Amino acid sequence: ANEHLIDDCIFCKIIRGEIPSHKIAETDKAYAFLDINPISEGHVLVIPKYHGEFFHQIPDDYLVDILPLARKVALASGLDEGQYNLLQNNGPMAHQVVPHVHFHIIPKPNKEEGLI
Ligand code: 5GP
Ligand code: ZN
Repeated sequence: ANEHLIDDCIFCKIIRGEIPSHKIAETDKAYAFLDINPISEGHVLVIPKYHGEFFHQIPDDYLVDILPLARKVALASGLDEGQYNLLQNNGPMAHQVVPHVHFHIIPKPNKEEGLI
């Protein structure tokens, strides 16, 4: 059991397998899965296996897994041949809805879609 997860969090439940998700990749300290409401096809979320609402609350040993995993997802998705946003929101004023840190990888299949 991971004592850094909490009961009442949708992404902690996804990490524990209590809510189903489409896994893309994972490490001991991070998990990557498809966004349930994708902005574009292949929209992936990368989250630490540590419950924290904000980026600055996540310990370094969890954060160090996040960017290499995001990079692996981008390469596996063929995004080295395309364009995408890598994005992370902190707080409702910054458009954060789920209060468990997550990095978005959002493919931009054509330049007409604009930035979110
Ligand atoms: P935020 O606005 O907090 O940065 O983004 C939260 C993201 O989590 C949204 O893109 C939303 O579609 C996604 N999301 C919310 N609930 C679930 C869920 O239960 N499963 C998955 N796979 N994604 C979710
Ligand atoms: Zn959580």
